[in-house]
Amino acid sequence: MTRPDSVVVVGGGLAGHTAAVTLRSYGFQGRLTVITQESSDPYDRPPLSKQLLARQPIQPTLSPHLADLEIELRTATVAVGIRPREILTTAGGFPFDAAVLAPGLRARRLPSGDGAPVARVLRSLEDAVGLRTEFTAGRRVLIVGAGLIGAEVATAAAAAGCRVSVIGPDFGPALAAVPDSVLDEIRGWYDDCGIRLTTGLQVVETSPTGVLLSDSSRRAADLVVAAIGGTPATTWLDGSPIGLDPAGFITADDHLRTGLPGVYAAGDAIAWPSARYGCAMHLEHWQHAADSAQIAARNILGADESYDPLPYFWSHQLGHSLHYIGRHGRADTAEIRTDTRSGRAVTWTRGGRPTAVLALDAPHLVRRARAALQAADRPEIGVVQ
Ligand SMILES: Cc1cc2nc3c(=O)[nH]c(=O)nc-3n(C[C@H](O)[C@H](O)[C@H](O)COP(=O)(O)OP(=O)(O)OC[C@H]3O[C@@H](n4cnc5c(N)ncnc54)[C@H](O)[C@@H]3O)c2cc1C
Repeated sequence: MTRPDSVVVVGGGLAGHTAAVTLRSYGFQGRLTVITQESSDPYDRPPLSKQLLARQPIQPTLSPHLADLEIELRTATVAVGIRPREILTTAGGFPFDAAVLAPGLRARRLPSGDGAPVARVLRSLEDAVGLRTEFTAGRRVLIVGAGLIGAEVATAAAAAGCRVSVIGPDFGPALAAVPDSVLDEIRGWYDDCGIRLTTGLQVVETSPTGVLLSDSSRRAADLVVAAIGGTPATTWLDGSPIGLDPAGFITADDHLRTGLPGVYAAGDAIAWPSARYGCAMHLEHWQHAADSAQIAARNILGADESYDPLPYFWSHQLGHSLHYIGRHGRADTAEIRTDTRSGRAVTWTRGGRPTAVLALDAPHLVRRARAALQAADRPEIGVVQ
C-alpha cells in the first residue's frame, strides 16, 4: 500500500490510542482521527478495578494527549458501519486511506427475571465511578465471576467494608488448568480478606434482591456485580466486508490486516492466526492491546511485521499479585517451585520445553522466564478451555 494521507482509528481505548500515537511517532504527518463512543479522553482500564474502585486518587487518562500530537479525537461518536475508504458514524462519514479498528469488548451481562439488567458491570470509567459509590460499609455485595476482574472488584468492595461474596463455576479462563494446590492458595487469599467464595456453581438469574444459583438455591444481596467477561463490540460490522469469526472477533491476518484493503485491526476485539501456537488466537489483556496496535500502525506505514506474541497478563487481587506468561495445555507438566527468597511460581513444560509460567507475588520470575519461552521452539500447545 502507498503511504496513506489520512488514517481513521475506531476505538479510544488502549489499542486505539497506541495505534494513533505510534503512527505519529513513526513519522505519519497526515490527517489522523480517533473515533470513540465514550465522552472522555482515552484512558487505561487496569487502574479502574485496582485503584479507582478502591478510591485511590488516580488519573487513568492515557498519555500523551492526542491533541498534543495533532490527532483529532471525536468523542461521543459511534461507528455504525464501514465501507471501502469510509467509516460511517453517528456524526457522519469519515473517509480514510487507512484505518485501524480497535473497538474492544463490551461487558457480558447477566440475565434477570424480567429481562432488565439489574447486575452492574465494570468495563468503563463511568462503570467504575458509579460502582465505587455503591461500595459502602456493611452492604452485601455479590460478585458473579471469580476470574481476574471479579477478584479485583471483590478486593475493592471488601476494603470498603462491604460484606462480599464471590460466586463462579471456577477461577476463569486465565487460571484454567492450574494445579489444585495453587487454587487452594488463592482460595486462602479470599478467606484472608473475609470474602465468601463459592466455586462450582453458576448464577442463572438475578433480581433486585439477589441471585438464583444453578443448584436452585438463592443468595440475597444488596448489590450484584457481573464480572463474567466480555463480547467483542463488533455488531456494527455485521454484514460489512470485515470478516468476523463466530464469536464476533474481527478476523485479521498475521500482519493484522482485515479483509478490506487498508483496514487493520488491534486489541481485545481481534482474532489472528498464531504460527507459534498453530491456531487462531484472541487475547484480552493489556500487553496484547498495546503490542498489536503498534504493529498495525507500523504496517500501515509500510513495515512488514507479523504479530505472534507470547501471551502475558498480570492482576493485583486480594493483597497479592499474579503474573503469567506463555500458554499451557492440560497435558503439560506443571512444577511448583517455592523459594522463600525468590517467590513462588508454576512452570509448565511439554517435552522438556517450557510453555508457560505463573508467578504468585513474584513478577521477576515471569520477567526471567520470557527469554526461555521465546527461545522454546514453537511448542505445540493444547488449547486451555
Ligand atoms: C477493569 C479492568 C481491569 C483490567 N485489568 C487488567 C490487568 O490488570 N492486566 C491486563 O493485562 N489486562 C487488564 N485489563 C484488560 C485491558 O484493559 C484490555 O485488554 C485493554 O483495555 C484492551 O484495549 P482495547 O483498546 O482493545 O479495548 P478497550 O480498552 O475496550 O477500548 C475500546 C474502545 O472502543 C470504543 N468503542 C467500541 N465500539 C465502538 C464504536 N462502534 N464506535 C466508537 N467507539 C467504540 C469503546 O467504548 C472503548 O472506548 C483490564 C480490563 C478491565 C475492564
